This record gives sequence, structure tokens and C-alpha cells, in this order.
Amino acid sequence: MSCTKCGSENVIIHRRYSGQHLCKKCFIETIQKKVLKDIKKYELIKKGDKVLVALSGGKDSTTVLDILSILAERNIIELEAITIDEGIKDYREKGIEYASETCKKLGIPQHIFSFKEHFKITIDEIMASKPPRKACTYCGVLRRWILNKEAKKLGADKIATGHNLDDEVQAIVMNYLEGNIENLTRIGPATYSQKFVTKIKPLREIPEKEVTAYVMAKGLKVHLEECPYRKTSFRKKIGTILTGLSKDHPTILYSTLRGHEKIRNALKKELKGESILRECIRCGQPAARDLCKTCTLLKEIGRLKDEIHSHNR
Ligand SMILES: [Zn+2]
Ligand SMILES: [Zn+2]
Repeated sequence: MSCTKCGSENVIIHRRYSGQHLCKKCFIETIQKKVLKDIKKYELIKKGDKVLVALSGGKDSTTVLDILSILAERNIIELEAITIDEGIKDYREKGIEYASETCKKLGIPQHIFSFKEHFKITIDEIMASKPPRKACTYCGVLRRWILNKEAKKLGADKIATGHNLDDEVQAIVMNYLEGNIENLTRIGPATYSQKFVTKIKPLREIPEKEVTAYVMAKGLKVHLEECPYRKTSFRKKIGTILTGLSKDHPTILYSTLRGHEKIRNALKKELKGESILRECIRCGQPAARDLCKTCTLLKEIGRLKDEIHSHNR
């Protein structure tokens, strides 16, 4: 088998959804081109933007940083990284270490924040208290709170996350199966809201497998271990089903994504008049009700006394 693009015999990947065989060099090029093309197509980044990559040290966010550093090198954007330490023992430390190494190597400033400093509690401590919800709920909500707050302080125009094609399709299917139809209208290449820093997903159309292949082809150092809390999640189960389906139907992830794009606008119209964002009375961050999601979760587990107060803007 030879490379569909250059004829080299050194093929490292076969794309079943397109029939292409690619050598290392052509593979790296197609990924970078595709991501940069999507950034243009969906107008994810403007010249002069300050972009903050939410960098965990895992394969996805490291790939985003690596590809966006091309734009930073060309002086099109200002690029920095933000890493959040949720406090997951024997797991997060390695990710942070690799994230810092990558930033140093690429010459990109990195900011590290922790759940402990912001909420005086770690995810491990929350889970040890046998709370009513799953770890991923606390982790996701609390992480977004820190990201938004710190990104605003840093004057960022965009927060880039590592969501890949598999993540995105999992979210679509999960929300559909759980009946969270309103959430479906919010899934897309970028999330705009007046009160939150705009989030962008440059890898949204890259399959997870190819992100892994990119990291290996480029020799990027990443933390490949899976989060210990993710193992039991609903997302994980959906992911397993979709991966299984993809074996016989290699285009299924793309067709689900395209199908969602078509119904998204219709859904938006149908669901018009959704909640207007206010400010959380405790922390001042955007909120749909009196309390934002973070403060609601912290209150639920008996953690809303003075902890948040000190951060009151
Ligand atoms: Zn080639
Ligand atoms: Zn709040």
C-alpha cells in the first residue's frame, strides 16, 4: 500500500471513511490543514485574538495547542494555556507535568489553577463525601467556572478545548437519549454567550483515533491514561457503542454530526425564548437562576459557606 497523496511506501494510517492511505508526513499535514480550514470555515478565531487552550496534558488538548501554535508562530494569534488541577490523586499530576513540558517546549505561557484554591475542596474529597451526583458532573461544572473566570481575567477572546469528533457525537447521542433537547441546540463548533468567554472546538471534526495517531506521529508527550472517574460514566458506555458501530459503518460519526447540524437550527427556532443569563448572587459568574450551577452544586454538598464568598469579584 502506498500513500494516496505522495506515493510513499511508509503508510501509517488507513482512513476507512475516505479510503485514503497516508504516510506520516502527509497525515500530519492533512490534520493541520483540516483543523486550520475548519477554524476559517466556522470563523472560530479572528486575527489578533488572544486564545487560551484548556490544556490537560492529554492527547486532545495537546494536539490543539500544537496546531494553534502554528498560528501563534505566524503572529496571527496570541496563545496561552490554562491547566486545571481538579485534585484527582495518582492521575492528574502526570497530566500537569506533561502539559507544562509541552508549553515550555513550544514557548507558550501556562497558567495553572486548582479546585483546592478556588473551592477549598478537590474532586477526590467531593467523591469521598458520597455526593448525590457523578464525578463528571462536579468536575465539568466546576472546571468551566474556573476556566471562564480566569479566562476573563486574562483578557482572553477565546477558550479552545480539545473536543474531538468522537466526543462531540457522544454528546449529541447522550443528550438525545437523555431527552435533553435544549442541550442539543448548544452543541457546535463554537459556543457564544455574552457572559461567558467564547469556547471553540478546533478538533471537532477529527476522529479520536486520528488525534492519537497525530500525537504519535509528531512525538508529542501526552498523558494517555484515562481518568479513573470516567470509567463508569454514561458517556463511556455511549462511546463504546459508537466505536462498535463505526467498525461496520465507518462514516457514522460524520453522518451523526451532519445530521445534528441540520436539526440544530430547527430546534433553536422551536425552543426560542430560553432562559436569559443573570449573575450568580454568590459568585457573580453567569447564572440561569439566582445561583450558578457551581454554587448550586457546592450548596448541595454543604460547601457553600465562606468558601465562595472570598471570590466575590
Ligand atoms: Zn505521503
Ligand atoms: Zn455562583
